[in-house]
Amino acid sequence: MSDLDAFIAGLPKAELHVHHVGSASPRIVAELAARHPDSAVPTDPEALADYFTFRDFAHFVEVYLSVVDLIRDAEDVRLLTYEVARDMARQQIRYAELTVTPFSSTRRGIPDVAFVEAIEDARKAAESELGVFLRWCFDIPGEAGLAAAAETARIACDLRPEGLVSFGLGGPEIGVPRPQFKPYFDRAIAAGLHSVPHAGETTGPGTIWDALDDLRAERIGHGTSAPQDPKLLAHLAEHRIPLEVCPTSNIATRAVRTLEEHPVRAMFDAGVLVTINSDDPPMFGTDLNTEYRIAARLLDLDAQGVATLAKNAVEASFMDAPAKSRLTAEIDTYTATHTHTATQPPA
Ligand SMILES: [Zn+2]
Repeated sequence: MSDLDAFIAGLPKAELHVHHVGSASPRIVAELAARHPDSAVPTDPEALADYFTFRDFAHFVEVYLSVVDLIRDAEDVRLLTYEVARDMARQQIRYAELTVTPFSSTRRGIPDVAFVEAIEDARKAAESELGVFLRWCFDIPGEAGLAAAAETARIACDLRPEGLVSFGLGGPEIGVPRPQFKPYFDRAIAAGLHSVPHAGETTGPGTIWDALDDLRAERIGHGTSAPQDPKLLAHLAEHRIPLEVCPTSNIATRAVRTLEEHPVRAMFDAGVLVTINSDDPPMFGTDLNTEYRIAARLLDLDAQGVATLAKNAVEASFMDAPAKSRLTAEIDTYTATHTHTATQPPA
């Protein structure tokens, strides 16, 4: 492991764009599959590792749906959530805004109250036992249409779990225009939630403008096409509207052809607040530390530069001010210690 890789592995981090079901690692899936022996998912760790080896986007969808099929009751939800936090703790992730899609579970018959209780129980346990602070973004699965939007807004606003901070919109963008979701975002924003839709991942900058104008986005999920519109890039930089960049995911979904062509450099150079995230890490064969290593390479960053990326995520998060100060101070202390040690003359 290079010095920079070791620095990244130990760096305290926050993650802002990572999906609940999409974070189920082979280890977690094996535990869920063991609870439901009738499922098609292998329980043997070796077979499971092969099952999970990322091949292409169609394979990702297949794996994703088979994991969705394993989440059948509130205990599955609790187990998944807590174990995701355990995987985060290993990567020194201190805080994560986890994108959760309650509609996928309520549609399958898990009562909304039981679903919310399960994630909240896991959140409290992760905080006290693992030192990982989870917060929720409830997102609309865009492909499921306005009924899903109404149900997501209802659960978010009526049940309003303590850990819920934001309201999102995911799923395919092509053929799913953003403005139709405005009434549901209006309701969530009126209830005090932050607006964080996916936009401009597989469509042009017009979708990002729609997310800003109609959904009042405070952060943009992906925003990959933003650099195609210099006026938009300048607007994002001027108003400090962060982008949640997920490099490996963009390659996996073919939103970007190669990492070398990834627009993160253009975003960064334009002064946009760039955050680095993993999206659906095990399903794309990555994790947050890998994404930081990729970002360091694409942006030509040293340890100080990588620490700045980590602090961008803290700034762009919906933590309260004291929590932001604490995590920023932890990052600074770690960075000072590490870079100090690295420049010490040999004893
Ligand atoms: Zn996403």
